[in-house]
Order: sequence, then structure tokens, then C-alpha cells
Amino acid sequence: MSDSEFHVKIDALICEGTGYCVRIEPEIFGIGNDGLGEVLVDRPTSNYGDALEEVATLCPTRAITY
Ligand code: SF4
Repeated sequence: MSDSEFHVKIDALICEGTGYCVRIEPEIFGIGNDGLGEVLVDRPTSNYGDALEEVATLCPTRAITY
């Protein structure tokens, strides 16, 4: 069981596959076979907090929560 304070999710209904999340934080996000963003690590360690805030803010559709 992870003790991560985060639970990263992408809302597939509003993601538009722009890929900003992958460019900013490729250790956490990828692009799936469906062309939409996918979460590679949904329970990252606490030192990803600033990166997650940046990605969630810059995602053009605000599809990312954590
Ligand atoms: S930045 Fe947002 S809209 Fe673009 S792929 Fe990532 S989750 Fe989807």
C-alpha cells in the first residue's frame, strides 16, 4: 500500500490529447493507444507536488486532478 498523498487521474471525457502533460512530466503521464492522456504513475511521491500543480494548471481542458 502506497503512502502517497496524491491520486492522479485524467478525466477521459474532457481530455483532448494535447500532450502537454507528457511534455511537462513524462514520468507521470503518457499518451495511450486511444490518443488521450494516460496516467503512468497514479500515486507519485510527495516531491511531485509542484509538478502536478503545474501540469493540472496548464492542461488546457483541466482534465487532471490529483
Ligand atoms: S494536457 Fe490535459 S488535455 Fe492534454 S493530454 Fe494531458 S490530460 Fe489530456
